[in-house]
Amino acid sequence: MEIVIVGGAAGGMSAALRARRLDENAHITLIEQGESLNYANSGIPSSVGGVIETDTFLIHQSAAGLKERFNIDMRENTELVAITKENHSILLKGSNTNETYQLSYDKLILAQGAHPMPLPAPGIEGENVFRFQTMLDLHNIRDYVSGHFCQSAVIIGGGYVALKAVEALHNFGLRISIIHFQNRICQDFDPDIANMIQSELVKNGVKLHSNAKIQRIYIGTAEDSRVVTLVNGPSVPADLVIIATDLTPRTDIAKESGLECRNGGVLVNEFMQTNDPDIYAVGDMTKTTNFIPSTSEFLPLGGAASLQGRLAVDHIMKRAVPYRGHIGMYSCKVFTLTVAILGLSVEKLKEVGYHPQFVTVHVPDHAGYYPSTQQMTLRLAFQPVSGRLLSAQILGRRGVDKRIDVLSVALQSGMTVLDLENLGLSYTPEYGSAKDPVNVLGMVAGNLLRGDLHTVTAAELEDHLDGWQIIDVQSPEIFAQGHVPGAINVPIDSLRNRLACLDKRQPVVVYSRVGYHGYLAYRTLVQLGYKVFNLDGGFKLFSECGSRMGIASGEAS
Ligand SMILES: Cc1cc2nc3c(=O)[nH]c(=O)nc-3n(C[C@H](O)[C@H](O)[C@H](O)COP(=O)(O)OP(=O)(O)OC[C@H]3O[C@@H](n4cnc5c(N)ncnc54)[C@H](O)[C@@H]3O)c2cc1C
Repeated sequence: MEIVIVGGAAGGMSAALRARRLDENAHITLIEQGESLNYANSGIPSSVGGVIETDTFLIHQSAAGLKERFNIDMRENTELVAITKENHSILLKGSNTNETYQLSYDKLILAQGAHPMPLPAPGIEGENVFRFQTMLDLHNIRDYVSGHFCQSAVIIGGGYVALKAVEALHNFGLRISIIHFQNRICQDFDPDIANMIQSELVKNGVKLHSNAKIQRIYIGTAEDSRVVTLVNGPSVPADLVIIATDLTPRTDIAKESGLECRNGGVLVNEFMQTNDPDIYAVGDMTKTTNFIPSTSEFLPLGGAASLQGRLAVDHIMKRAVPYRGHIGMYSCKVFTLTVAILGLSVEKLKEVGYHPQFVTVHVPDHAGYYPSTQQMTLRLAFQPVSGRLLSAQILGRRGVDKRIDVLSVALQSGMTVLDLENLGLSYTPEYGSAKDPVNVLGMVAGNLLRGDLHTVTAAELEDHLDGWQIIDVQSPEIFAQGHVPGAINVPIDSLRNRLACLDKRQPVVVYSRVGYHGYLAYRTLVQLGYKVFNLDGGFKLFSECGSRMGIASGEAS
């Protein structure tokens, strides 16, 4: 059998090696337009920033090594130009020679990936403007920085690749600005959580330019003339410009050959087959079904690409295993913070027609009595009534990767918030607590599901400020440092003696710093007949989410 694979990275390489492991007699050809194949482009940020010292660490195996061990016909510097489905043949061109020739296939696997959204800004072709995706980009960026006097960098884009670029360039000691056209960065996250990520960037000296449209990129010879100018905005210092805009699937050739595309990607079934049964497509260039139904977000990720390459070959070799759907999950380092998302944010779930319930908790990453404990923030969205998990977002300094993975397994197993309450997880004071953050998240969500808790968000509070009584149950000293405008201070331990100051006819919103004392106050008041809401995420989230209400300070009157 002639198997031809186009694309020598995550999806294509996984397919090629799987094919050889399953069929010693197949003739396997791997086409790659670039010079480097079989490298980890997820490692590019660490290599640019010098965390990984040698680039060759990113290359899993050389072309010669692959030929020797796996007997794969490797064709680097070779570009796919066209597909003629009817003849089972493709047109190839030498990237350096421009020579063309035809190659026949029995099965064709496309793994061409995605490329950054085009940015039609004058100056974009300048010598100091780079993409941030391939080994070549990595070398170009490093050569430029070592050969020029660079103090500042502009990163264009606001998604996770942009966050990774920040980390990498920060390691060069550059002053970094992010320019993006939306009202905030990190659109994958809910606005309040994204605000916390933005705060971390700003705290570390990154300048953010939101709602910004680039007018021109200038490469002057003088230091102060290398700038990016913004429409109706300032000039941003830019010795170096990195294009880290969202990725868009590479589908031109697939489309021209009549392969069906939808929502920007090549449409495939659960076996990664296109509308031509002998052509498969995998990885960033595809549109697959999502694990959470009715969602169609495109989130290009390495794990999915690699798995899909394997599954395409399994189908070809008649041992079909269906793809279970795209999870859409990643974690990302932002200075000392780790941010992680699993599935869609609450905002996006609502946009696609879900009516999720959700809770936000702040809990220590490990036992409070063991040194260096840090608080992590977790948000869980779930189906009302059934309590089935829909998505999660986490921010923290340590242990975020562990919790997001536990939640991912739980979500993929169809678990509910009640399952999370009862989940057995390892506990030792250095790494966790007797009630792990995942258990706590399940318990708070379970309270909401069972009707033992009602919450209100900071955004909802903005609309209700006039009519509602807002009670801050923290100590007077903490209250004086900052509180929700209009709040009355009734410390938790004096609540039962101060009931006279509360009007039973009006709703009461209670809050504490992270929500736990607020919940205690909630339980007391609700059992006494008050209509009560606990502020989701407590004052911590309120003060960090960028609420329009602002923060009041001063002692209680
Ligand atoms: C900076 C960065 C960091 C990332 N970090 C993470 C991470 O931490 N975790 C994660 O899950 N994902 C991460 N990703 C995403 C991940 O790298 C991609 O999802 C994954 O590489 C997709 O694999 P793929 O095989 O579909 O496409 P690609 O890796 O893009 O490979 C496609 C290949 O096809 C080749 N090609 C394209 N067109 C042709 C043609 N006409 N002829 C011949 N060859 C062609 C390209 O040259 C390329 O080598 C990161 C991406 C970037 C850019």
